[in-house]
Amino acid sequence: MTTATPRFRTVLFDADSTLSAIEGIDWLAERRGVHVAREIAALTDRAMNGLVALDDVYAERVARIRPTRAEIEALSRAYITQIVSGTAELVSKLHDAGVTVHVISGGLRDALLPLAAHLGISSDRVHAVTLRSAAHDDVFDQLDGSQPLATQGGKPEVVQRLLAAGVAPMPVAMIGDGSTDAAVAPHVDAFIAFTAVTRRASVLAAANAEAASMAALSTLLFEP
Ligand SMILES: [Mg+2]
Repeated sequence: MTTATPRFRTVLFDADSTLSAIEGIDWLAERRGVHVAREIAALTDRAMNGLVALDDVYAERVARIRPTRAEIEALSRAYITQIVSGTAELVSKLHDAGVTVHVISGGLRDALLPLAAHLGISSDRVHAVTLRSAAHDDVFDQLDGSQPLATQGGKPEVVQRLLAAGVAPMPVAMIGDGSTDAAVAPHVDAFIAFTAVTRRASVLAAANAEAASMAALSTLLFEP
């Protein structure tokens, strides 16, 4: 077997609506009934379209939903069952070619670690949001201190930190569907809008390229 030649030395993936077809926070909100679910989904969509800052909605969503440990574990299983077709194959191909793969997500780290493990991505390459329990029980209702990825500028901040630390060798590609992913574009060599799950004009406007499937993404990430 010949190893494919990668165009980038690092590939950064968004998680929700990119690696997996679900939005984790919305999935948790659906456990709270149709009214809460609708309200939370509308907040998420406004943030991903760049209409409101993520900072303003994140803590509010967590305080409304108050996910339990069992629900976060159930979400971790849903991330894997709803994985986007071709993801495991593409991540394997990247790893086989020596590409560094990170997950940069505004989702919940505890829920994303099993998906990352399933894809062979180590936990130190999973950057996401950690919650805490105010009452020290199994209900997670607060952000665990400062959580850059729960803010609008979080992804660029984390990406710049990874670049400075030398753990994301250049050239670097960022892959995602949302406005927080598009915000990384000025800091990397390419931002590819991933539109298999959700396609947003505002995100496409910031993108160097569009991939509507993992197969299409593969052709952008490797030399022909
Ligand atoms: Mg996303």
